[in-house]
Amino acid sequence: MSKKETTCSFCGRSKSQVRLLIAGISGHICDHCIIQAQSIVKEEIPSGGLEIEGGENAPLTIYKPTEIKAKLDEYVIGQLSAKKTLSVAVYNHYKRLNHKVGEDDIEIDKSNVVMVGRTGTGKTLLAKTIAKMLNVPFCIADATVLTEAGYVGEDVESILSRLLQASDYNVQAAERGIIFIDEIDKIARKSDNPSITRDVSGEGVQQALLKLLEGAEVNVPPQGGRKHPEQKMVKVNTKNILFICGGAFDGIEKLIARRVNRQTIGFANEEEERIDKDNLLEFVNPTDLKSFGLIPELIGRFPVLTYLEPLDKTALRRILTEPKNSLFKQYVKLFEIDGIDLKFDSEVLDFIVDKAVEFGLGARGLRSICEAILTEAMYEIPGSKDHAKEYRVTLEYAKKQFSNSKMAKMKAA
Ligand code: ADP
Repeated sequence: MSKKETTCSFCGRSKSQVRLLIAGISGHICDHCIIQAQSIVKEEIPSGGLEIEGGENAPLTIYKPTEIKAKLDEYVIGQLSAKKTLSVAVYNHYKRLNHKVGEDDIEIDKSNVVMVGRTGTGKTLLAKTIAKMLNVPFCIADATVLTEAGYVGEDVESILSRLLQASDYNVQAAERGIIFIDEIDKIARKSDNPSITRDVSGEGVQQALLKLLEGAEVNVPPQGGRKHPEQKMVKVNTKNILFICGGAFDGIEKLIARRVNRQTIGFANEEEERIDKDNLLEFVNPTDLKSFGLIPELIGRFPVLTYLEPLDKTALRRILTEPKNSLFKQYVKLFEIDGIDLKFDSEVLDFIVDKAVEFGLGARGLRSICEAILTEAMYEIPGSKDHAKEYRVTLEYAKKQFSNSKMAKMKAA
């Protein structure tokens, strides 16, 4: 069976007629066309279009930790400890990039961060908010899709492909970027953590990840996904890339409690009492990550460890209204576009928060609950000719709409 030969999408030359064929998302380009395109760029853009913004030697605007935290406060409720830790880590990352090893020969080490906290407590939100204010490339990658080379899934290098995409394929810029890896706990070794159901050969992935963290030159497939022979690799040096990881580490509290209790044996019981049972994460340390199933080499690459607090009702209530783009502000805006002033009775807030807690959804559930309550109104009002100028959501209305919603019915079933 003859297989169709790959051709250049610009000139149509086949692979055998050219020296180089680079794969794009839906086509290829050959070396002839690259050279021709380059001369067009040179003609059209006097500078040649090849200056590199934020190049290796360009100084970066540095945000002070207090400035970073202030920005985080606009979007993220609570989480003081994580905010401070992240602000310092990001600030030091910048300082490190600007620091030239001179006569003192002091090289500042990277301060990669691990954030431990239940799902929906704001780990990704913190990372995204930082990304907004940064002038270095930033990307979010999900550890659950990563597999060891040779397995179905994505190679660890695909994380760097994302960073390259985020930096418009400017390798120099990517090399000083920040990568957020979500669900890092999902690549923990299974044997140490029976709650993980999917075996992705955790340890192998951790080993692969270690290579990225060690500050090596890594061959990256520019478009991500699997490496395939005709795809030209890009070399990316990870020495200056800051890694921030997040994970729920379900069950780690038990490991912390066990360790803390062991340490306090023989001491007065007061010691134990002083430990807030609801917030054991506060005491998380690298040993616990190890017991959870992360390999020591990997843990060693993350010198900064911080935690997120579980969100209580007060925090959830604040999340509804306070952040710069809080859910309530978003709904008010949506109604405002139709000329309606949307108002919520204060008991409605408590009702939404109670439901979020009852459904065990935390902050993640707030949105679906609001949708359940407001869908009918959002459906009816825009089409009705003489709707009132103000729309007030009462507790009675909220309860009725919610109990009729799919969400409530699913729970009841
Ligand atoms: P995770 O910790 O699982 O990464 P996310 O950051 O994705 O959680 O949070 C999910 C959603 O819940 C966010 O998009 C945000 O709307 C809301 N949220 C969670 N925690 C907070 C918080 N501390 N402050 C404000 N909103 C929050």
